[in-house]
Amino acid sequence: MSTSTETAVDEALEVWIDQDLCTGDGICVQYAPEVFELDIDGLAYVKGEDEELRTEPGACVPVPLTLLQDVVDSAKDCPGDCIHVRRVRDAVEVHGPDAE
Ligand code: SF4
Repeated sequence: MSTSTETAVDEALEVWIDQDLCTGDGICVQYAPEVFELDIDGLAYVKGEDEELRTEPGACVPVPLTLLQDVVDSAKDCPGDCIHVRRVRDAVEVHGPDAE
């Protein structure tokens, strides 16, 4: 495995949504429909590459590098402040309400 690959893994990010705070406005779905989707309960959930929604509380999915900016913008503009983006390596939140 090359160094650059290891670095990429080190910086891998994942995202989860706190549905308790989700307003269901769908901004995240507009920004990154590959990662976010509104379920029939009107709340947003993350989904994986298999297109399956992860409906368990706190469930997270990897953030594809190509969608990183869209996911970060979603977290920034989320009216519920409930999109959390964290590093896989140490679970530190890097974008979202709990980011430093
Ligand atoms: S942007 Fe935030 S509040 Fe709006 S639907 Fe997505 S997760 Fe819910």
